[in-house]
Amino acid sequence: MASAPYRTILSPAQWRMLELQYRQALKGAFYRRHLVASKANRLKHTDDFHHLPITTKADLVENNPDFLTIRPNLIREWVTTSGTTGQPVRIALSQKDLQRLAENEAAALRLAGLRSGDGLLIAVGMDRLFVAGLAYWLGAQMLGATCLRAGPSMVDAPCIAALPLAPSRRWFIIGVPSLLGPSLMAVNKHYPHIAGVIGIGESLYDADFNPNALSRALQRCMDVPVLSTYASTETCSTFAQGPKCRGNHLNPRMAIVEILDDHGRHLPPGTPGRVVITPLGQQAMPLLRFDTGDAAALHAGACPCGRRTPRLGPILGRSAQLLKVQGVSIFATAIIELVRGVYRGMEVVVHADLDPLGADRAVIYVICPAHRQDMLKKRFDRAARAKLKCVPVIRYGDGHTVAQIRALRQSRKATVFVDTRA
Ligand SMILES: [Zn+2]
Repeated sequence: MASAPYRTILSPAQWRMLELQYRQALKGAFYRRHLVASKANRLKHTDDFHHLPITTKADLVENNPDFLTIRPNLIREWVTTSGTTGQPVRIALSQKDLQRLAENEAAALRLAGLRSGDGLLIAVGMDRLFVAGLAYWLGAQMLGATCLRAGPSMVDAPCIAALPLAPSRRWFIIGVPSLLGPSLMAVNKHYPHIAGVIGIGESLYDADFNPNALSRALQRCMDVPVLSTYASTETCSTFAQGPKCRGNHLNPRMAIVEILDDHGRHLPPGTPGRVVITPLGQQAMPLLRFDTGDAAALHAGACPCGRRTPRLGPILGRSAQLLKVQGVSIFATAIIELVRGVYRGMEVVVHADLDPLGADRAVIYVICPAHRQDMLKKRFDRAARAKLKCVPVIRYGDGHTVAQIRALRQSRKATVFVDTRA
């Protein structure tokens, strides 16, 4: 199946936008060097596009100023990635990029069901150089929705009770699912007019589009559609879904997406691989064929919602979060999902390191009441043997142990996965 030739099909409008993106990219020193060195410095045909070299996160970190294509005084925002799997990446945005960010997110929120006159409770930070909160705010403003910038720490029942949640409106909540979970239970009792929850940064479905443990946990808290959204800081191009969708739709005006194997070959629809995105319409730091570091499949054909644009399947993991445990290749996300399914509602951190022989090892730390430890351990081992084909080590610890493991890696996000293999 993977050997079937598969090419990216571009509409005439996408092709025109790609040419503009390419010309803009060439204004920066990085692409002038990079494209000349690779001898792939023309763009006349789809094949030329496929021969353009891949841009990696490491390229962006190591050559950051060389990606800039506008004068520094035209930069309106600097944003950074969280650096979950490496150093944070700095991205500059111009006025035009901010406009693009608003249009991109307005389209994504509209797909999720948000309309003019609705409300959006933004449980995501607007500060610390994050782009996500800013993007949701800009998108909701463009749609004509009312925003409450609650931030991640304010989403609990007493705080929400103090917010002006007009009952005549339909309200959507957007935030990180694992942080939202405990709050939603309390919110649900008091605010029946919540219309949907949009989860960012964590997968909510498995590879077959079935709700995963995290999604089911949210659904138990609140009986409303639980929707996922996918984007990256570098590309500012969102893949969104509505209640009927199987996967997240590409917005063809914002990006071209390719799924490649480790040798750079295109994979056919339905086969997971590296997600490579060429954003369209970027100005300050335009990217060509950017390897997001995420792994997922692209799905063709009509979606149950009726749209025909390609859909990105659930993110199966970061390419960098692929472990080889007991001879089995496995994404950290698969381990996290399984452990969350067994140890429901308990605090978990997965630590990947190397054993004395240099092989990958995954140790899972869980804060679990003593009287449930043996029973849940047996259940986890059974489930791991069946689903993962290997049995990662479980260690029971207290809050102090978990905090110590988390401190091994500095991160702005609530860390569930700590990787100290490098
Ligand atoms: Zn759909």
